Amino acid sequence: FNHNYEVKLQAEKFLHQKVVDYKAHPIVVDKSTSVYDAIVQLFLEDVGTLYAVDSSGYLAGVISRKDLLRTAIGNQDLQELPCSVIMTRMPNLITITPDETLLEAAKKMISNHIDSLPVVKEINPGNHTYLLIGRITKTTITRAYLEIMEQNSI
Ligand code: ADP
Repeated sequence: FNHNYEVKLQAEKFLHQKVVDYKAHPIVVDKSTSVYDAIVQLFLEDVGTLYAVDSSGYLAGVISRKDLLRTAIGNQDLQELPCSVIMTRMPNLITITPDETLLEAAKKMISNHIDSLPVVKEINPGNHTYLLIGRITKTTITRAYLEIMEQNSI
């Protein structure tokens, strides 16, 4: 029995897990939602990031805690300001697909300095139309790591 080998196997297993098996439910707002309501939603849902969709239901943008904070310390009317004005928009969104691995998700989050990734299905290649089907966060990665390390008690 080789302890180090066992650890290596677990680490490998962890890295090859698919996004589809770990993705969480995305918290979604319409991009016309006011920044005020988005802040309320962030607290109600206890998440760090909201995803905005357009009238067709396609992914339109990402709204993070700091996006909301930055806007809130400005002197704007948060009840009147739509999320579409402050969100990070398509085509600048970093996305991931269900068949990609947690290793790819981790790399995308670290290299782009972001906390979460929308999990998407591309509807129209090249047209930036994506259906939002989930989210992966840094917490997802930590949870998956813990689960796999606990599965095989070493
Ligand atoms: P916070 O801003 O609360 O620290 P993030 O680090 O996730 O949260 O976000 C940093 C910036 O990157 C924000 O302006 C946010 O809109 C943007 N952002 C977050 N996630 C993504 C993503 N998947 N693709 C592109 N931009 C993103």
